[in-house]
This record gives sequence, structure tokens and C-alpha cells, in this order.
Amino acid sequence: MYDVIVVGGGHAGCEAAAAAARMGARTLLATHKIETIGEMSCNPAIGGLGKGHLVREVDALDGIMGRAIDRAGIQFRMLNRSKGPAVRGPRAQADRALYRKAIQDLLAEEDNLTIEASSVEDLLLDESGAIAGIVVEGGREIRAGAVVLTTGTFLRGEIHLGEERRPAGRVGDAPAVALAETLARFQFRLGRLKTGTPARLDGTTIDWSGLPEQKADDPPEPFSYLTDRIEVPQISCFITYTNERTHQLIRDNLHRSAMYGGRIEGVGPRYCPSIEDKVVRFEDRSQHQIFLEPEGLDDPTVYPNGISTSLPADVQHEMFKTIPGLENARIIRPGYAIEYDYVDPRELSHTLETKRVPGLYFAGQINGTTGYEEAAAQGLMAGVNAALRTGGRGERFVLDRADAYIGVLIDDLVTKGVSEPYRMLTSRAEYRLRLRADNADQRLTAKGMEIGCVGDTRAARFMEKLAAVEEGRALARRLGGTPNALQKAGIKVNQDGVWRSAFDILGYRTVSWDGLVALWPELGTLEPAVAEQVQIDAQYAGYIERQESDVAAYRRDEALEIPGTLDYAAISGLSNEVREKLIKVAPRTIGQAARIDGVTPAAVILLLRHVRRIGRDAA
Ligand code: FAD
Repeated sequence: MYDVIVVGGGHAGCEAAAAAARMGARTLLATHKIETIGEMSCNPAIGGLGKGHLVREVDALDGIMGRAIDRAGIQFRMLNRSKGPAVRGPRAQADRALYRKAIQDLLAEEDNLTIEASSVEDLLLDESGAIAGIVVEGGREIRAGAVVLTTGTFLRGEIHLGEERRPAGRVGDAPAVALAETLARFQFRLGRLKTGTPARLDGTTIDWSGLPEQKADDPPEPFSYLTDRIEVPQISCFITYTNERTHQLIRDNLHRSAMYGGRIEGVGPRYCPSIEDKVVRFEDRSQHQIFLEPEGLDDPTVYPNGISTSLPADVQHEMFKTIPGLENARIIRPGYAIEYDYVDPRELSHTLETKRVPGLYFAGQINGTTGYEEAAAQGLMAGVNAALRTGGRGERFVLDRADAYIGVLIDDLVTKGVSEPYRMLTSRAEYRLRLRADNADQRLTAKGMEIGCVGDTRAARFMEKLAAVEEGRALARRLGGTPNALQKAGIKVNQDGVWRSAFDILGYRTVSWDGLVALWPELGTLEPAVAEQVQIDAQYAGYIERQESDVAAYRRDEALEIPGTLDYAAISGLSNEVREKLIKVAPRTIGQAARIDGVTPAAVILLLRHVRRIGRDAA
């Protein structure tokens, strides 16, 4: 008997299990194979634009992904470095084996966590219809108060390689068929999605000479707020390009591609298109970039990023012959596409608990997302909420769209559903100036401490940093001068007689930090990390202040709750289409109702009036 059972040891499952265990729940992680815990099914990298923000947020809530990549990253790069901190994306390429080891080591540190290798075939319900446990291969039953399913691409998974197809969760792993049947039996709305991966190449057969090199950042910037310095050696990646010959070969063989030959019905990720998709959709482009990414320090395998495909192996072989540097490259494993079942995430509430089966939670690719980071973020939230449920505290842990990208991700999923694999993008967040990768700890760690998912080490570290940053900000606000005095010191400001602090001046971005330190040497006593945080906070303070009224309006609507028992048929004036959409999502708040695609402002007003009337009648 456990409090929480997590099914699946992928990126969602590992965070869910670690989070539930940190919360004090007796947790079981049941997954097919112990050795594939933390496996990166596709690209050996964590982070990127939007995704990097999620990793920092997971880390701020004491999740394990950030610490794991810091132990395994072999090429750290801050994407968009030349742009503002709000849209910068930390990314690191991983040594696959080191990453798996780091995740497994971090899980081993969790006192309340048991891990077992088993295939979960069915779910147990109690007489009220709530979850009661799982059934593993052979019929053994294991009981728990909450179950988190994180089965990734495994539900009725099918691999496609050209004209060939075979059942699999990913290469080398069997699919989860029985569990998919259980979900269908429970009448969850299931759909089909697809994704693809490129071939893996033998790096010793690549001609690296003449290929443009991409170096790691020096020094590499860690993901985790707990990591002081990256100790793993850093390597370079190299770049090559497809060309007209490659594209012609692909066009000539499109009918043999699983995706284009009509053999796959599922929809693929728009933001991670296959090379077939790129050639067809961007007809005018004469080349596409390929990053050649080594998969490990002691591993000759190379991941050619940007060229995922479901063309037959012989065409893939011919394709590489056309690409500079890869003419003689040996394919270790051809690329392939995978098609799998997902559950319509509108079946879930914001805690990631299913509305159909109390105590059953879904997280990760099963909810129609794509990517390790999206999976990890959901896993953490599902793990925390599952532990809260079994802990009997009657609380739920939900982040809103102004708190975190995690809040944006989950709200998008449960409100809008998905029509293609969902990946995080900075453009999905309305309040992105607040939701920066640099300040994830300031936004979230205190919330995590309050709910109980942040351990003592991180809590102490955070409090120390927060005190230092607050002191730094206070110092920068204390120091300052009149326009006259500033002018004399070489700082140009409007001669309006208004006293300005160093913090205000930093916000104008016309004066460098060093310039201010020359004027006020006290600023030079701040730790470099604290000084950097003060500078970023100052740059955004004005914008964030202006955004406050939008955030307040958003949160007002979020506070207007809709009773779960609301009879939408009783609201006169709603069109059938809107009514159906509202019934499908069953929004918890007026704000969420307004975000459902196709729900008009007029419909929201009708809904609001109705909810208010019920409230008045009940009073
Ligand atoms: P997974 O990492 O898939 O983990 C699922 C886990 O559940 C596995 O450990 C599995 O063994 C276990 N499991 C499943 N069923 C059972 C069961 N019944 N009993 C016990 N254990 C079970 N992402 C991108 O962002 N871009 C891409 O281009 C991309 N391409 C991909 C290509 C391929 C071929 C594949 C397979 C994945 C690709 N991904 C891509 C997706 C990425 O791998 C996933 O988003 C991510 O791994 C999802 O994490 P997860 O935890 O939800 O599931």
C-alpha cells in the first residue's frame, strides 16, 4: 500500500515521483525498466526558448531536472543572449548516459521513494469510482490513494520507418497496449499524435574538417539555483546544411515516407517538423541547417539535429551522401516516426487530476505535449497534487498564468485542449516580462516552501539569496542624486528636478553597472550574481509595474468561481456551440471560461450573470 503510485520513469514520471516523495508521501515509481529511467528518447538536450524557463521553474520548486542537466551538460548555451533576459533561453546538450545516471542518483536520494520494474496493465477503482491502485503484469495488485500516469509515447505506440511499421513505445521498448485499453474502457477521450527522430550517426565516419563550429558558453551558466559551477568538460557542436540535391531526393521519395505515404493518421509537432515537412512546407528554401551534436563525452554517436524523418533507411542513407561532411557517415540507427495515443487534456482539472476518476492524474506526453521539459513541469505539479490529495490536507497546488510558464502550460492544456503536440513557446505567455528564467526562484520557491515540496537545503539557500538580493535592491534604491548632481557625474537625465535612485537609472539602460559602481563604490561590494539580479530587476521594474493592472484584472476573473454542478442548459441565450464547449471543459472560473476558444465575450457575460444569480439565490 502506497500513498502515491507513479507509472512511468520518463521525464514526467521522475519529477512526479520525486515531488510526491519530497512532500512526504510514500511513493512507488513503477516503470518498465530501471535502466531506462531518465532516458532521453529523442534529442540529447534540455532547455531552449520557453523550455529553459520551464526547467528553471521546475528547479525553483526543488525538482530534479535542472540539477541533473548540470551534472550531465556537455554544451551549455544561453540562447537569445543578445536579447532581453525575458526571452533568453538556457539550453544544454547532454551526455545521455550521464543524464540518466544523474536522474537515477537523484531519485535514489529520496527517502520515501521505492522503485520497481514492472509493466502496469490496469487500474483499480474503489466502489465510489475513485482510484484505488494499479495492476501489474501477472495480475499483482498494488494499492494507493493516488496514481499518476506518465506513459509518454507508449500508449498503443507504433513505430514507422518508411513502409515498415511495428508496435513499440520507442525503439527497443514495447508499447503499453493494455493500459490504453483501460483508458478507453473508462471512456477517456483519446486521440492520436505522432513525432519523429533523426538517424544516429557514427561520429568517427563524419568529415568534420571545414564544418562551422559552435562553441559552448564560457563560462557555462548552470540551470539549477543550487549549482555553483559546471564541472563537466564542455565540447563543441558543428553545423552543416542540406542542399538542393538533398531536397530533390526527399521529394522523389515522399511517397515512401510514413508521414507522407498516408500511413500515419496522427498530427505531428509543428515546431519540430520532419525534414520531409520542411522540404514540402518551405519550398523556396534551398538549405536547412543541421546541428551535429555529440551524444556523450565517450560516445561516438552523433545526433543530427534538424533532420528527423520517417523515410525508409535506404533513402536516409542516400540523403546523408548529399550533405557536406556526412557523405561517408555510417548510420548507427535510422530515424523513425512514432504514433501514439494521448488523452484530451480537457479531461483534467488544473491539478492534472482527471475529472472522470478522482485520484487519477496524468502528466507528460500522455496529455498531448511534446518535450522533456513540458513533461517534467507537469510531472512535478501532478506529483505535488497527488501527495496533497493523499495527505488529506484538502489543499491543491495550482500556478496561474501570471505566476509561471508552468501555469500557462497547464491552463492552455486543460482549457484549450490540443490539436497538435503542444510545446512551450515564450509567445504563449501574456506576462512574459515577469516570467523570466532568471527570477523563477523569486517567483516560485516561497510558494513551494509553503506547500511542502521544497527541501531544507534549497529553502535555506533561497532565503539567503533573497535576503542578499533584497539588500542589493534596497542599496540601489538608497543611492541616487538630483539631475544636477547626476549630470555632473556624467549621467544624462532630464533636468526636471526629480531625485533618481541608482535603481531607477539602471532601468534606463543608458548607464552600465560599472559606470554606477564608479559613482557609488558601495555597489561594488555586491556579489556578482546579486548585482546581476538587481540590474535585471531594475530593467524590468517599470514594465512590470505597468503590467500590474492587467494581472490584477486577470486574477479578478480567476477569483470568480463557477460551481462544478452548474447546469449550462439552464443559461438562456447561449448558442449550442458555446454550450457544448463549456460542458466539455467545465471551467472552474469565469477567467478560464473566457479563454476557451470560441467562447465569445457576450457568452461570458451571460455566464457571469447566471453564476451571480445562483450565488444570490443561494444566499
Ligand atoms: P517518456 O519519456 O516517453 O517516458 C514514459 C515512461 O513510461 C517510460 O519510462 C516507459 O517505459 C514508461 N511506461 C509507459 N507505459 C508503461 C506501463 N504500462 N507500465 C510501466 N511503465 C510504462 N520531443 C521533442 O520535444 N521534440 C522532438 O522532436 C521529439 N521527438 C521524439 C521522437 C521520438 C521517436 C520519441 C519517442 C519522442 C520524441 N520526443 C520529442 C518526445 C520526448 O521524448 C517526450 O516528450 C518526453 O520523453 C515525454 O516525457 P514523458 O515522461 O511524458 O514520457
